[in-house]
Amino acid sequence: MMTGGALKVARRGLMFVISSPSGAGKTTLASRLLASDPELTLSISATTRRPRPGEEDGKDYMFLSEPEFFRMRDNGEFLEWAQVFGNYYATPRANVFARLSQGTDVLFDIDWQGAQQLDAVAGGDVVKVFILPPSRAELERRLRERKQDPEDVIQARMAKADAEMSHWAEYDYVIVNYDLEQSDEMLRSILLAERLRRRRQIGLANIVKEMTGEE
Ligand code: 5GP
Repeated sequence: MMTGGALKVARRGLMFVISSPSGAGKTTLASRLLASDPELTLSISATTRRPRPGEEDGKDYMFLSEPEFFRMRDNGEFLEWAQVFGNYYATPRANVFARLSQGTDVLFDIDWQGAQQLDAVAGGDVVKVFILPPSRAELERRLRERKQDPEDVIQARMAKADAEMSHWAEYDYVIVNYDLEQSDEMLRSILLAERLRRRRQIGLANIVKEMTGEE
């Protein structure tokens, strides 16, 4: 198909997994990316955690009771699931693979446990990016700034951040988030390069066949 004079090669979508400790800027980066890229859609996770103020069911998460969560899990409706901070989280299977075959990418904001499981079930489609904060002190500063939590809660969040960060080496790409604009650009570059991988450009064979006149 011709678009604007250039050939638009049909491609298979990819599963773009982003993990980080909370406070590293992942949510901001993910929403910027989603807002600016029409070929990228969000995987809305299911969780048993209570909604925070401002969070909407079906938009931020699919908020479920524990029995509902376990029923869906036991029905095989999740691609992966994990317990995080005492609550359950899962990625609904829903139409993830349908989106990939239509050439749409899916963004997953999930932890290291989810990243590992997606890799195990769909390795070839998965691209994993880890976002690190610029320093431990800056992470602590952001956690303090964000919430009016007592000291013991801040310390617990820092311990969880350490646990999450210990998995950085399991990822394909790592971005140290010194600067939001720069990190945003880095994330876009990763996405672009991964979209251009030969094996994802499933329309290439026909295009080349036409070009070379091969049967
Ligand atoms: P929060 O409760 O702050 O929204 O998320 C807590 C943690 O759970 C974050 O690290 C987030 O990436 C992770 N998380 C959110 N959804 C999922 C999911 O579907 N699967 C897994 N494994 N982790 C998730």
